[in-house]
Amino acid sequence: MRNLVTGGAGFLGSHLVDRLMEVGEEVLCLDNTFTGRKANVRQWWNHPRFEFIRHDVTDPIRLEVDRIWHLACPASPIHYQHNPVKTAKTSFLGTYNMLGLATRVKARLLLASTSEVYGDPEVHPQPESYRGCVNTHGIRACYDEGKRIAETLCFDYRRMHGTEIRVARIFNTYGPRMLPDDGRVVSNFIVQALRGQPLTLYGDGSQTRSFCYVDDLVEGLIRLMNGNHTGPINLGNPGEFTIRQLAEQVRDRINPELELICRPLPQDDPLQRQPVIDLARSELNWQPSVSLEDGLERTITYFRQELEGTTAP
Ligand code: NAD
Ligand code: UDP
Repeated sequence: MRNLVTGGAGFLGSHLVDRLMEVGEEVLCLDNTFTGRKANVRQWWNHPRFEFIRHDVTDPIRLEVDRIWHLACPASPIHYQHNPVKTAKTSFLGTYNMLGLATRVKARLLLASTSEVYGDPEVHPQPESYRGCVNTHGIRACYDEGKRIAETLCFDYRRMHGTEIRVARIFNTYGPRMLPDDGRVVSNFIVQALRGQPLTLYGDGSQTRSFCYVDDLVEGLIRLMNGNHTGPINLGNPGEFTIRQLAEQVRDRINPELELICRPLPQDDPLQRQPVIDLARSELNWQPSVSLEDGLERTITYFRQELEGTTAP
């Protein structure tokens, strides 16, 4: 199989590239390196089955591929809000361009959609049938609505052109290769604790999230791509924690003396989030296997090395 992984130098994309390379497939890793790092795929740089293409998905591209794993899009609120118009363009035009390519070369396309399509949900936990509650003009809309239109495009390409699509709704995923300054909660808390700084709770920390370890998530993506179910399908870990509980877990593992301090809750920050994964269980025979404790331990080990590396003279 010749695979195109857009966003392949990013956090999730680079783990997916690893998995595809490890099973002997060909990989074209396409990325504009906005939030990705070439270092994430350095291990494959000179491999004959690997190629890196520096390209922006908002521009069309012609390639011969069998499968398109379309992950290109900044995922952390601070990054996607940095240039919200560009984020919306990346989701809309990027997905449009990749669907055009998939249709031309008869490739199967998997879209990395998100739990953010549910917005600040009034239904809890969230099944795929829930249609969401997104503020169309809030600061998260560039991302949330971007992914919603990306999903729409996938299904319209399927209806109009018979394009083979797979749509994954990914819930908060964490693990090695997140950027230390990424701004997402797991990386923020671990980096703050390792630096001996207070952990910053936005709001009172009572909002909830469900955290999936990256290896579990990548396994779900691969099963979705290889299977017959189109989606949309939730991929995430149903274990739900308050942000305060997460902070306490991280603090207690690294330095129980550290303070938790409160900062203002960002606008439209969802109050609760937990996936219903019945569909993934039945259609993909998938469920996460890595506990939050184990996943945090592996991620803390990564950040320790990362911070030592970057702070070394
Ligand atoms: P990330 O920011 O680490 O990776 C995104 C990658 O896309 C980066 O390498 C970036 O440089 C690249 N990119 C961004 N805009 C681009 C453009 N216009 N052209 C080409 N490349 C571009 O984020 P991630 O966590 O790895 O997320 C990957 C995908 O999964 C995203 O589509 C995201 O929306 C989705 N997702 C992630 C999560 C999560 O918790 N990690 C949750 C839901 C959905
Ligand atoms: N959050 C926090 N402190 C931080 C970073 C994030 O309390 O330093 C909160 C944030 O307000 C949100 C949750 O943690 O309620 C998850 O944030 P993240 O940006 O990781 O993901 P998302 O909001 O997109 O689910």
